[in-house]
Amino acid sequence: MPPKPLICQSCGKPLDRPSDHGTEADGTPSAEYCAVCYKHGAFSQPAATMEQMIDRAANVLVIQMGLPLAKAKELVATYMPKLRRWKQ
Ligand SMILES: [Zn+2]
Repeated sequence: MPPKPLICQSCGKPLDRPSDHGTEADGTPSAEYCAVCYKHGAFSQPAATMEQMIDRAANVLVIQMGLPLAKAKELVATYMPKLRRWKQ
């Protein structure tokens, strides 16, 4: 696989710092998921749907980037279905 910028494969958050990474069951850092989505080898919200994750990520963009909510949702909806957790 070609190298890609490292982002959480559940929510799309950039995994820039070691503290951004979630943890596997044995405590090692996850290569694919962030600390919010994934802890000790399990998703923190295993029942979350992609729609709920889009809403949540869009709300973060509204706060961090000052985007209107509709625009933020549009943006998130372009990349979230491509993340490994949601790709079927
Ligand atoms: Zn995440």
